[in-house]
Amino acid sequence: MQDCLFCRIVRGELPAAKVHEDELVLAFKDIQPQRPVHVLVIPKKHITSLAQATEDDTEVLGRMLVVANRIAVDQGSPDGFRSIINTGSIGGQEVMHVHMHVVGGQEPVGPMLKR
Ligand code: AMP
Ligand code: ZN
Repeated sequence: MQDCLFCRIVRGELPAAKVHEDELVLAFKDIQPQRPVHVLVIPKKHITSLAQATEDDTEVLGRMLVVANRIAVDQGSPDGFRSIINTGSIGGQEVMHVHMHVVGGQEPVGPMLKR
């Protein structure tokens, strides 16, 4: 995907504060952090959203979950974190390349949704 923001980060065309990289996924700090720890974990291959994910994406989506705890601990959220994947307009997705927010810090993140 030529113009996709996160594909451009994967290709090194745009800068990012990388905190983890393996053959399947990349993780970097969110540019507008909502909590002291706020990292985005993305598949290196372009997947537009979870609505477009297929059986073939099982391994990379699993890897995103498996690396989350290590990233959270490394970044200063040793006692837990929240992982969020927004999907489509109802889910509030703004960047159309699957990404999992890993948010945390020393204080509880707060209620899951605004009431
Ligand atoms: P979402 O609303 O789930 O699509 O979240 C998109 C996230 O991407 C937001 O939290 C943005 O702050 C973040 N973001 C947008 N551009 C960049 C960038 N160049 N580097 C890091 N994070 C970004
Ligand atoms: Zn992309």
